[in-house]
Parts: sequence; C-alpha cells; structure tokens
Amino acid sequence: MLDRDPDVPRRAGETVPLAGASTIAPANHALNLYVGMVVAAGALVVLTTVWLSGWDEPTGPRPDLFWLFLVLFAFAEARPMAWLRRDEGGEVTASWTFALALLLVAPPGSALLGVACACLLSDALHRKPVVRGLFNAANYSLSLGFGSVILGITGQRTALFDDHPGILLFVAFLLTAAAVLVLNSVLTSAVLALVQNRPPWPMIRQGVALNLATDAMLLALAPVFVVVAQRSLTFVPLLVLTTWAVYRSVELALDRQHEITHDALTGLPNQRLFLEQAAAACRAAGERGQELAVVLVDLDRFTAINDHLGHHVGDRCLQEVADRLQAAKRTSDLVARIGGDDFAVLVTGSGAGPGTAALVDRLRASLLEPCLIGGVPVAVAASFGIVVYPEHGDDPEALLRNADHAVYAAKSELTNIATYEAAKDERRNNRWDLLAELGSAIETGQLTLYYQPKLDLATGRLAGCEGLVRWIHPRLGLIPPARFMPFAENTELIHRFTEHVLRVALTQSARWERLGIRLDMAVNASTRNLHDLHFPTTVAGLLAEAGVSPGTLEIEITENTVTADPVRSTTVLGELRALGVRIAVDDFGTGYSSLAHLRDLTVDSVKIDKSFITDMSHNPPDRAIAQAIIDLARNLGVVTVAEGIETVDAWDELKALGCGYGQGYLIARPLPAAEMTAWVQALPCGVWKPDAQADDG
Ligand code: C2E
Ligand code: MG
Ligand code: MG
Repeated sequence: MLDRDPDVPRRAGETVPLAGASTIAPANHALNLYVGMVVAAGALVVLTTVWLSGWDEPTGPRPDLFWLFLVLFAFAEARPMAWLRRDEGGEVTASWTFALALLLVAPPGSALLGVACACLLSDALHRKPVVRGLFNAANYSLSLGFGSVILGITGQRTALFDDHPGILLFVAFLLTAAAVLVLNSVLTSAVLALVQNRPPWPMIRQGVALNLATDAMLLALAPVFVVVAQRSLTFVPLLVLTTWAVYRSVELALDRQHEITHDALTGLPNQRLFLEQAAAACRAAGERGQELAVVLVDLDRFTAINDHLGHHVGDRCLQEVADRLQAAKRTSDLVARIGGDDFAVLVTGSGAGPGTAALVDRLRASLLEPCLIGGVPVAVAASFGIVVYPEHGDDPEALLRNADHAVYAAKSELTNIATYEAAKDERRNNRWDLLAELGSAIETGQLTLYYQPKLDLATGRLAGCEGLVRWIHPRLGLIPPARFMPFAENTELIHRFTEHVLRVALTQSARWERLGIRLDMAVNASTRNLHDLHFPTTVAGLLAEAGVSPGTLEIEITENTVTADPVRSTTVLGELRALGVRIAVDDFGTGYSSLAHLRDLTVDSVKIDKSFITDMSHNPPDRAIAQAIIDLARNLGVVTVAEGIETVDAWDELKALGCGYGQGYLIARPLPAAEMTAWVQALPCGVWKPDAQADDG
C-alpha cells in the first residue's frame, strides 16, 4: 500500500522530516495546512466512529480475533526493516491486510482507534517526528473510516460471521477495499506532491495505479484471514506464511521496477526516470504558466581519475558526489545520474530566478571538499549548465541537450557555471551548417588559395610561397580557414579537401613555371592526411597530373600529427620523402614538441611559430626560443623558416641569428594568385629589400 511516508529515503535510515522541517526547504504553508487538515479530520472521524459504535461490545463478537489482528497489525507496522522503498516515496507494508481484517471483525470505532494507537506507538518507537505519526494515523483512520461507511451502507458489516455469506458481501468487500486503497493513495500522493512541489493529479493517478497493481492482492487476503481465523486459530500461521509470500512477490516486483529506473552505482534515479519526471514537470509548469530549471552537473577531468586512480576510485567518487548533490538539493528537487559522470537536477518552482542560482551555489559548494577515498583525498570539480523551461526548450530532451551545450560553454570559458545562450549555439550551428556546405564548396570551386611569399633571409631572394586556403562563400563572402579548418580537420571530408588544395596549388605552380616563375610551393596537410596510407599515392598522382617536379612541393605538418600516431605518420612521411617531396614542421614550438621527432623524422625544415617571431625584438624569452630553435635546427641540418615577420627589427634579428627563410606581413600578406603573380613580377631581380618597406608591414 502506498503508505504514509512522503519522503524518498535513498538509503536505509536516511530520511527527511515530513512537514518542511528541512532547513533548505522553503516554508510550505500549503503542506502544513494540508497535513493539519488531514490530522484534524482523522481525529474527528475516530472520535465520531467511537461515539457512534458505543461500548456495548467494544471488541466485537470475537474478541480473540480482534486482538489477533491488532497484534498482527502492530507487528507488521513495527518491523523496522520491512519498509520497501518506492520510487514515489511510499512504502509497501503488509499491515493493511490486518487493518482491513480488523474492520471486518470489530465495530468500526474499536478498529479505527486500535489501528490509530498502534500506528502512533510504532512511529514513536521508531522516533519518527510526531507530526508524521499523526498524519499516518489520520491517513489510516480516514481510509478505514471510508471503507467502514461502504460496509455499513451495504449492510455487510458483520456478514462474515453469517453461516452463509452471500455474493453481496463479496461485492461489498471489493468496494470497501477499493475505497480504502483509493483514499489512502490520494491522501499520500497529495502530500508527496506538496512536499516535492509537483502537480498533484499526475502523482495521484500514478499512486492509485501503482497501488492497484501491487497492493490490491495484500488487501484481498483480509477476508481470507477472517474466515480462516474464525474456523480455527491454528491455521492462521499458515496464512501468515502465505501473506509473507505474496508480500515478497510484491517486493520483488517493486525491486525490479526500481532497478529499471535507478542507477545501480549511486541509487539515484536514472536518465529514464529523470526524463519521465521532467516531462510531467514541464507539462504541469506549462499548464500553470510557470518556469522550471534543469541543472546539468558534469564532472571535470573525471576520465583522468578513472585512468590514473582506477575505476574503483572513480566509482567511489561518483557515489560520494551523488550523496553530496542529494544532500545539497531542496526537498522538491530531483537529482539523477544520467550518464557516466553527468548528473542532472530538476528544479521545480524556480526557473531563472534566484532560487536556482542559490541551489547551484549550494551544489557547487558541496563538491569543494575533496572526496576521501580510502583515506586519500581526491579532488573532484564540476561544471554546471543551467537551462530554463520553456525559454531554452519545451521538452526534457531539448532541455538536456541545451544544458549540455551550456556545460560545454562553462568548461571552455572556464566559468564553471553557464546558463544556456541560444546565440552561442547558433554560432555553433552556423559552423555545422558551414561544414555541411564544405563538400559542395569543394565541388563548385568556392575554395581558392592565397599565396604568401617566402624569402631567403640572407639575400632577400624570393624562394617560394605558401598556399593558404580561402573560402569565397556566395553568401558570406571570404571565410578565413580558422572558421572551418578546425572542424573540417575532424571529418573525413579532409581527404577530398586536401586533395583539392594540392590540385589548385600544383596547377598554379605549373602555370607560374610556364611564365618563367619558379617558386617552391608549400601546402598545409592535416593530421588525418598523414595517417592515411594512400596519401603518398594521391600526392604522386597530383604531381604527375600537373606536371610539376616533386622537389617543388613542400608539405607542412604539425608536431601533433606525429605524436597522434607515430607509426603511421612516419610511414607516410617516409614515402612522401621517397617521392622527392619535402616536409616542413609548421608552427614549431607550439605543439607537443619532442626533439626526438626532429631526429627520427628527418624533416627538411621547421617553421618557427609566429607567436615567437612577431614580438621577438621586444620580448627576450621569445627571442631566446627562436634562437634555440634556429641553433638546434642548424645542428641537425634542418632549414629554418620564420613565419609572422611583421617588423624590420624582427627581420634583421632573424637574419643575424642565422634563420634560413622568412614570411610575414612585412613582406606580403597572403595574396590571390593574380596579385601574387604581379607582386613577383614587380620584384627587382627577384630580390626583396626590407629598407624599402614601412615598419608596419
Ligand atoms: P599556418 O600554416 O601557420 O599559416 C600561417 C598563417 O599565418 C596564415 O593564416 C597567414 O595568413 C598568417 N600570417 C602570415 N604572416 C603573418 C604575419 O606577419 N602576422 C600574422 N599575425 N599572421 C601572419 P591563415 O591563412 O589564416 O591560415 C591559418 C591556418 O590555417 C594556417 O596556419 C594553417 O594551419 C591553416 N590552413 C590554411 N590553409 C590550409 C590548407 O589549405 N590546408 C590545411 N590543412 N590547413 C590550412
Ligand atoms: Mg602553414
Ligand atoms: Mg604556421
């Protein structure tokens, strides 16, 4: 039976007092009023029934049965570990069987008084708050009182003592049991709804349905007990055993129900239950025109805890985090574990208001102390993403999705807490839209290359150029690579993309050669290209197609390419070099540099990243790094190229340090092919002189 306890105890013995005694729950006047009214009505019903029943034969025609069932009732009530947790917070007990049996053997006044007293006594023994004991007793009294009225109306109150009870008794009993069950479910679900600040009707419907499915059979045993006990008390123990078996099967069914809706590790509701509850809460909030919030809690660097300290420690951390979040939430909030290291909190009653902000602060504060696992403090930190219904989504799935984006923003902006912003998401969506268009952009020739000259620093002679992609979008205009390359590089599209860029670059080389301009051509390749074992064949094919000698082409890779998969990239790079293509390490000094790679890969040149070059004349550490790279490369027999030369000072210093080549805005920005051709043709004797240029490039 959905019995009397409105809390949702997560572990045995862990409870929250009924009437808002929790310090974090806001004063719930409606709840207090409701409990007060139920208690008053219960007391009134007991007194009236006792008065109406009179005291002629207080324990009915069979006092032995009265006392037997009262003792069994008290026993079923008092068993400390017999309570079953139920998702909605109720408990299953067998005591209702005996309460109903009492109603069938004794005058209603004695039955109600006996049950109420036994109930108060049991709760007092369990040190439950007085108000809760009173509510429970009132709940029993009202439900039994209602049942007793039905028995009275149908004239079947003592019919079980007749020699030949008729079919009417059967019908009357069914009605009585239904009345008891429904009223009890309504009273309990209503208090649950008030405690959890949730809409009452769905909870009542749910409560009644659950009771009908599970506890109706326990109630059905009541008349059987009476009949057997009338015949002989000897058989009652056998029936108690049967009841226990029925009770066990209900218990197993509920356990099963619990398993599919809860997370085994933490005992918290799982994603399924969370989505169900959130959907109901959204519907109710929508009907009332209210807001609600969902807070997604994502642990930071949890994979590192698992990897470095072991899954056992990871599991213990998750349990600890679950406990802390559970303790920090308000009674009306629902905490669930919805994924590996993701927890979600459903916050009803305060959408974007200060209530949610205060809650998030509490949740965050609860995770500040490290978790003590086996005496070792393990620090756990989390990021929080907040979404509000209906502003950020009108169903739980949309809310969770956007909360996930908010968490992502919180992590990437290092703010820890972020509320969902549609604008940011739009930008992200734009990137995705852009990526979706990239395929057709390749087909329709929207991708073009700009060329940036590369000079020999010692002589100022033009040595080559770097081809840098530009997307001339029909609607958005010129899009720089930073806006799409990072995403394109993570997709399989990058193979077609690089093939296209190489074709354009090599075709341009061939065109320049025909004009008598001989320039080395550097092209950037992505990590995926260098992990593709067919890449050297593709490059060889493109060189042949354009009729350009392999020595003209230089492929730029980054250090990270090699670290990601040293075996594959070493094979691919080896084959490219065997073709006669040269390899440059781009952005050198910014990746996971390993000097061993420089030795093992036998690259042809390193390009010192522009972050060390641009400001090197004013920044001694930058200069020191540039110098170290130049010296190292010289000793390894590798050519150095400085990128990002913006000032004459930088040019002079690099030249003095012995850097081989340079490119940068001082010399020229990346130029479209035609402009590059004009720029080259305008160079006197193919030599560029810094003195002729302005310092600002
Ligand atoms: P990167 O290969 O290091 O290219 C150099 C970047 O520095 C270019 O930016 C260039 O315009 C810029 N730059 C050149 N001189 C200066 C200077 O003096 N000062 C400053 N502040 N910047 C200078 P861009 O063209 O926007 O390219 C950015 C990055 O996009 C490239 O860096 C490269 O990693 C990637 N990328 C460009 N084209 C391609 C391509 O075709 N394929 C691949 N896989 N990546 C490409
Ligand atoms: Mg480059
Ligand atoms: Mg670079």
